Amino acid sequence: MNGRIVIVDDEPITRMDIRGMLEAENYNVVGEAADGIEAIELCKTHHPDLVIMDISMPLLDGLKASKKILAEKYAKAIILLTAYSDKENIEKAKKYGISGYLIKPIMEKSLTPMVEVAIATGTKAREYEVSLEKLTKKLSDRKLIEKAKGIIMVEQNLSEDQAYQLLRELSMNKRCPIAEIAEMFVASDD
Ligand SMILES: [Mg+2]
Repeated sequence: MNGRIVIVDDEPITRMDIRGMLEAENYNVVGEAADGIEAIELCKTHHPDLVIMDISMPLLDGLKASKKILAEKYAKAIILLTAYSDKENIEKAKKYGISGYLIKPIMEKSLTPMVEVAIATGTKAREYEVSLEKLTKKLSDRKLIEKAKGIIMVEQNLSEDQAYQLLRELSMNKRCPIAEIAEMFVASDD
């Protein structure tokens, strides 16, 4: 499985090395950035599968940029690069949801497997999020419809089936999702 990747490092030579390794494995490098601000902008535009991000950079460091990128869901996964590993940064990385951590100099044999796994888990996590969102929406729609049915039954002296039928007809006639019609009845009853 290949993926779309953004590389972020203030040293052009490091970016070039990583790009070379990734392209040799047929990954698609969609952009390069030299600081955290550029990184955020690039990810906002490209929504990559993965960002490979240096921690120590001018203007905005890699940890701060990662926090923003993951919070806004601009990328599915981030791997951090650093010259040394310290506890404080690792704690932050865990808290922000970073997928992996590589110590420079970067070796191809450690980069590629980590990239592969980070893209796969990031993609899977995104799929779960989407299905959870759909499920939550479905549940809240169902609640709204139930509530609207109750209101219509009382106001128009209809049976439950009739109330539901009315909602369905309105939904079709107005070309509007049934949950939105239901919401109108619920909102106007408050
Ligand atoms: Mg640096």
